Amino acid sequence: MSGSLINLIYLIAGILFILGIKGLTKPKTAVRGNFLSALGMLIAVVVTLFTINDVDFTYVLAGVGVGGIVGVVMALRIQMTSMPQMVALLNGFGGGASLSIALAEYVTRTGINPTSVSDFFQPTAVAASAFGEGAEATIALMSISLTVLIGAVTLTGSLVAFSKLQELMKKSYGLPGGPVGNGILLLGALAAVAFLVMNPGNTMAMVAILGLALLLGLFLVMPIGGADMPVVIALLNSYSGIAAALAGFILGNTVLIIAGSLVGTSGLILTRIMCVAMNRSLANVLFGKMAAGGETIDADEIYDGKVTSAQPDEVAMLLETAQRVVIVPGYGMAMAQAQHAVRELADAMESKGVEVEYGIHPVAGRMPGHMNVLLAEAEVPYDKLVEMERINPTFEDTDVVIVIGANDVTNPMARDVEGSPIYGMPILNVDKAKTVVVIKRSLSPGFAGLPNPLFAMDHTLMVYGDGKKAVIEMTTALNQL
Ligand code: NDP
Repeated sequence: MSGSLINLIYLIAGILFILGIKGLTKPKTAVRGNFLSALGMLIAVVVTLFTINDVDFTYVLAGVGVGGIVGVVMALRIQMTSMPQMVALLNGFGGGASLSIALAEYVTRTGINPTSVSDFFQPTAVAASAFGEGAEATIALMSISLTVLIGAVTLTGSLVAFSKLQELMKKSYGLPGGPVGNGILLLGALAAVAFLVMNPGNTMAMVAILGLALLLGLFLVMPIGGADMPVVIALLNSYSGIAAALAGFILGNTVLIIAGSLVGTSGLILTRIMCVAMNRSLANVLFGKMAAGGETIDADEIYDGKVTSAQPDEVAMLLETAQRVVIVPGYGMAMAQAQHAVRELADAMESKGVEVEYGIHPVAGRMPGHMNVLLAEAEVPYDKLVEMERINPTFEDTDVVIVIGANDVTNPMARDVEGSPIYGMPILNVDKAKTVVVIKRSLSPGFAGLPNPLFAMDHTLMVYGDGKKAVIEMTTALNQL
């Protein structure tokens, strides 16, 4: 195959990746987007294999077979609520793959042939041209060592993220000095990179980069709370893309550079979207907790004597006479697995002529798109899921809002109380509706740990109980009216 034909096919694969990512931005086109990206990757892999002479297809086919079976089983068995864990693992594998490529390239180019572990600790005489001449050698060594660094951080960081989300690791551990300790590990790893670039045969430097980076990944993620993991996963996703792009430079493979850059940038954009939607800086997510100040807000003062509760059958009567109802789901709906019950309630309302829509906040739940995925699973039509910017102006013309298991994303303090830790976070203005029904088990706070004045408003009714149970009771009562 000629070089220009290969590059043309790589370009087509790159275009398919971009169309795939574009498709993934909307639920309606997401399946097609996924297919296009997968097709692009298949084309890229097949063409790459045919450009390499001397490929042993036994190993390739064995890898595809084993990997394919593991992938299919994982994808079929994974619960929707466990999706962040799966993404964390996949990021980790991506980082690990780039790391392996870089190490293999280092071993091949230096020609080291270790027969025991101690051989790694002996400097090796490397042929002057092993990594090319002058700037070329510097670029090759930089690419290899930085791929090892970023790939290793992604690998261990993602494994910790997986363990936290899977609740295998329940405590948070960190280095003494926190960010300073991590800074020392990073500086040590970068110093080893510089040393390796100047002394390509010094295997000790490579071992140091690898060791320090593996530790850095562990200690970067271990202190971060489980609820902040989705942001960390988006960031690690970006790191895995950067590692893949660097691996593309090592191999001189254009399509790997394109794919890695796309993953790297889209991961960064997603990280930014999540931080903006939570009104938090990335540094605050990585090194701190929610902004301080929450502890000075007295929940009793907000709630005492002002909260009105209601039973599901009382709410059903309200729903029967409503013209427009908006359902606002949050993390509690996911916890209660109430999405199917919610759809049945919406069906019951619609059969009585009520207009029903869903108000979706970008960070409702614990990962971007969490609510969309759950409601899609319950076959709620996509056009009924209305994003925050579009639903907010409609609340004033809404008779009833049903807030199910959402808390922070409806907290008016984010809009009205300047000193509050969530001040500035965009919210769903549900308090503008004529009546607000909030379904949750108690007055406990949500992720941000703050009381919510919405619960004490005159036009708010609290329905206490598990989300699924309360919604089923409402539907039953409504169907009997
Ligand atoms: P919140 O975490 O603010 O509140 C969830 C509420 O659900 C709780 O107050 C809880 O109250 C209730 N709940 C829990 N279990 C049940 C149940 N079985 N039945 C009924 N209710 C239940 O959720 P939101 O979705 O409003 O906000 C998401 C928060 O997560 C935001 O602060 C956001 O910044 C943060 N976040 C989101 C990310 C994302 O990408 N989506 C990433 C990282 C953080 P009770 O115990 O009384 O039932």
